[in-house]
Amino acid sequence: MSRRGEFGLIADLFAPLASSEPGALALTDDAAVLDLPAGYQLVTTVDAIVAGVHFLPDDPPETIARKLMRVNLSDLAAMGAKPRAAFLTCAFPKGLDDQWIEAFASGLAADVAAFAMPIAGGDTVSTPGPATFTLTALGLVPAGTAVLRSGARGGDLLAVTGTIGDGALGLLAARQADGSGGAHQAFLADRYRVPQPRLDVAAGLAGHMHACMDISDGLVQDLGHVCEVSGVGATVDMARVPLSAAAQAWLAEGRGSWEQIMTGGDDYELLMAFPASAAHIIAAWNASGGTPVTVIGTFTEGTGLHLTDPAGQAWTPVRTGFTHF
Ligand SMILES: [Mg+2]
Repeated sequence: MSRRGEFGLIADLFAPLASSEPGALALTDDAAVLDLPAGYQLVTTVDAIVAGVHFLPDDPPETIARKLMRVNLSDLAAMGAKPRAAFLTCAFPKGLDDQWIEAFASGLAADVAAFAMPIAGGDTVSTPGPATFTLTALGLVPAGTAVLRSGARGGDLLAVTGTIGDGALGLLAARQADGSGGAHQAFLADRYRVPQPRLDVAAGLAGHMHACMDISDGLVQDLGHVCEVSGVGATVDMARVPLSAAAQAWLAEGRGSWEQIMTGGDDYELLMAFPASAAHIIAAWNASGGTPVTVIGTFTEGTGLHLTDPAGQAWTPVRTGFTHF
């Protein structure tokens, strides 16, 4: 796999990513031994990304590593958890050169530092198949405070973080290697390759949420998941769905569609239910300069999603979102 071999890779490239976590034992032992502060619960999630499925095989290795870290951090944010430590399994295709692996490790190192998320263990193997990376992320919440998908109630505000649709348009942008996407192509491609886990919103507002999940498979489909497990319906006013300047431009130019924005994957924004009484808390949060939180609709008693397009007409997607199977 590499002229360094498995142990050389671990010592040279991955052990430095463990240096801030004493319990990682410098990746020289059989397992990590982590302390859990009294009164906290461990929130655990795992996500795998596969070349050709979750990232483009010729994406920069730095951004592949960062996406791996960030999709998992997004799941921690969705539960209201703070990052604690991560475990990484790399299946590198045979014949991948050391330069690629070094670039992957340097992208990971940047996010280990940015999010205080040490790599406390893992495994490194070679594979005859496509590059596959799996990260298990551990986070902490004060006991009993994890935010679940199932807590939305009729009358709750339906809100999202950041901007919606950049992930789906970004995949199109990332595929247009010829630069034909215009001035916004780089922004959108970056939004696809390097998601922004909304840990600030989790830290600042989780205590006010009734429910939360992160949008990985499209707003419509993921909203459907929250509604189903909460036993409620929802209305969405698409005129209020926050769009980046780039997404607005692509929509106006016919490069992108509402279908892609509402049902495309890879946004990694948070979808949240707040009691109506929290409206002033959301306003204060937005005034404070945190990641913007935008109310786009309401959770309703009963069942069913009712979407209204910007022209005020009832709107139904052709497809509801990304499914693997
Ligand atoms: Mg998720």
